[in-house]
Amino acid sequence: MGFTGTEKIIKRNLVRGEAVAGKQAVVTVDCLLTHDVCGPPTIGIFKREFGKNARVWDKNKVVIIPDHYIFTKDPTAARNVQVLRDFVAEQGIPNFYDVGTDRYSGVCHTTLLEKAHVLPGEILVGTDSHTTTASAIGAGAWGVGNTIGAFVMGSGYAILNTPQTMSFVFDNQFPEYVMAKDVILRVIGDIGTDGADFKVLEFAGQGPLGLSLEQRTVLGNMAIEAGGNGFVAPDYKTRAYLNEKLSAISDRERAERMLKKLKGIDFEELQSDPDASFLSRHRYDSQSIEPMVAMPHSPGKVARAMDSKTVSLKSAYLGSCTGGNTEDFLAAARLLVAAGKQVAIPLYVVPATVGVLNFLNNRKIGDRTLRQIFQDSGANMCSFDQPSCAACLGGPVDTYGRINETQPHPRISTTNRNFPGRMGKTGEIYLASPLTVIASALKGRITDPREFMS
Ligand code: SF4
Repeated sequence: MGFTGTEKIIKRNLVRGEAVAGKQAVVTVDCLLTHDVCGPPTIGIFKREFGKNARVWDKNKVVIIPDHYIFTKDPTAARNVQVLRDFVAEQGIPNFYDVGTDRYSGVCHTTLLEKAHVLPGEILVGTDSHTTTASAIGAGAWGVGNTIGAFVMGSGYAILNTPQTMSFVFDNQFPEYVMAKDVILRVIGDIGTDGADFKVLEFAGQGPLGLSLEQRTVLGNMAIEAGGNGFVAPDYKTRAYLNEKLSAISDRERAERMLKKLKGIDFEELQSDPDASFLSRHRYDSQSIEPMVAMPHSPGKVARAMDSKTVSLKSAYLGSCTGGNTEDFLAAARLLVAAGKQVAIPLYVVPATVGVLNFLNNRKIGDRTLRQIFQDSGANMCSFDQPSCAACLGGPVDTYGRINETQPHPRISTTNRNFPGRMGKTGEIYLASPLTVIASALKGRITDPREFMS
């Protein structure tokens, strides 16, 4: 009997137990991620359990990225960031992307990959459920609670139940109007929000492998909305993506170290064996996937965009770790250019990271930058220069894009969760791809992007 890609990753890092689905395994962790919301309590638990003078197990493997409640006057949010600063100074942690410095980046999951802190075959643990994002580059990536995060911080080990894997094969390429968000919403709709609890969704076939790495990360990220992570076996695109990212980072010492490690990773070995044991097998024709929306208040309550045209909207939101990346903005801007008209409702735009912001300022369609295209479309630009999570997780009342009104507020958004109150108390959030969000912003109601694509 062969092994799945995820079993092989666990086997690479195994200290004790068995890297076989259903069995418990103690593994070494290659990277621990935390941020301004979960970092302070994780640090508190770490100090309580390991002692007030304890040191993190490896300062080079802890990555701290403030991103959630950053551009706010809220004193609690400011205190949280200060807790991170004090801890980083005390421990001498080099991988800290502090607010108000040249190192500030933005959304943690996007930053982690932009800065190539984790590689295929490695194990990433983060105190944030969407840590699964990195499973799309072929890493073993899991979100954990603060207590487990603190245990990893002090020991460098994690205890996992080796997960079962569900296979999702998409034959053929996706149509141009379909983005990764449509694919994952379709899957979540099919299997339900508990359909992959503590499991791995492995995406394969021409469809997912035809996607860019950025788009694949949406599959990894939102797999957790069905309870699992979203593994995509690494390929030549993964290697090219990581080489490019590592070539661009300013910390050359870390870059050289990671490049050397990357070179030594055998991607073939991380593929699931043909005789691997899968919990279930699901097969789709990529051409049959259509623009989807998830209705309030569950990512599993999905419908086709074209069947939801009667839903009127009050605003639209483009941003987050599943809609605020370079290709999301490029696709959105192209649609705005093709439509040649202004948005009909307020459109909030938030780049995920400083890297994405630079892309918006420099990448052109015709003679206009993407930034200009959004400005010309009438989008509310207030947060263009403040890459962060912004209103994706609601945040303090002065958070950009937060829904603060008392009346029900239907909004279409590229974010990944639409639970009650997620973007503000009265928000009724419809999740969709950047293309569907823009098409809907242009009409003021849910709209299939094909209406603007010839
Ligand atoms: S953008 Fe949203 S989902 Fe992503 S890390 Fe921030 S709050 Fe979480």
